[in-house]
Amino acid sequence: MDFKHITVAGSGVLGSQIAFQTAFMGYKVSVYDINEEVLEKAKDRLQDLMPYYKKDIGSTDAELKEAYGRLSFYSNLADAVENADLVIEAIPEVVQIKTDFYKQLATVAPEKTIFATNSSTLLPSQFVEATGRPDKFLALHFANEIWKNNTAEIMKHKGTSESVFEEVIAFAKSIGMIALPLHKEQPGYILNSLLVPLLEAAQMLLVNEVAEVETIDKTWMVATGAPMGPFAILDVVGITTAYNITKGKADATGAAEYIKLADKLKVDYIDKGKLGRATGEGFYKY
Ligand code: NAD
Repeated sequence: MDFKHITVAGSGVLGSQIAFQTAFMGYKVSVYDINEEVLEKAKDRLQDLMPYYKKDIGSTDAELKEAYGRLSFYSNLADAVENADLVIEAIPEVVQIKTDFYKQLATVAPEKTIFATNSSTLLPSQFVEATGRPDKFLALHFANEIWKNNTAEIMKHKGTSESVFEEVIAFAKSIGMIALPLHKEQPGYILNSLLVPLLEAAQMLLVNEVAEVETIDKTWMVATGAPMGPFAILDVVGITTAYNITKGKADATGAAEYIKLADKLKVDYIDKGKLGRATGEGFYKY
């Protein structure tokens, strides 16, 4: 199938980026959200992306205007998906909200329409039943700042058809993404399956007073040729996120190591306003 018309459901942080990138690459895109008021905000959010396209990838005003012109906005789901070859869902990371959405979508979308979820932490199999079309459902996961962090993790569940998988891989490439196929469901996809354990191991070396921040990063960088070490990455992710993950594990497991690490992140960093790059200081000063 040659996709022509794409619908993006949810016009928040990621939905607006996915919609704009897809339109920028020449597709007609319908943007769906819950009401007109939210859609007005989405229009501002979409306009706000334009300076980044200019600065980061050298786009011209004419190209950006044309891209914006390919977007249309809907608060009625049936209208939004009327011609859709593909619906990319980027609505809140809440199981009940997504389940209700897929049930409604299943009743109004044409039979041909493929559904893809951009969920970061939930698995397609959680929503298969609600979609009513297991063979035409999978995950298509983008990264924040899609125009430059252009990864697309495309993940099957057991019932996804091979041809749908291939079509979505081809679509991801056609909108400028590096397509990264996952043949099975994997919580955290590929990136977070690698990154979360690395970042946790680094923090444990620190909290157990094995080595200092700079030494741990230097080891990783020199030995593997990586441009950044785990603590430099944590400063980009933000120390609040690192704290939330660790605190969650501390509460769930009661393990002394996680409790100690959560305390350290709170007392030495968060309480001092050292939240990472965004605040000018985290594990490093910027
Ligand atoms: P967000 O809160 O910025 O946006 C969510 C949007 O969905 C809002 O515009 C909201 O009005 C809308 N919405 C709420 N209920 C809806 C419904 N029933 N139907 C349609 N729209 C509805 O959230 P986000 O950060 O863009 O995240 C959306 C999804 O993308 C999540 O599944 C998240 O895991 C995933 N994701 C987020 C990031 C990120 O960095 N923010 C990265 C990758 C994936």
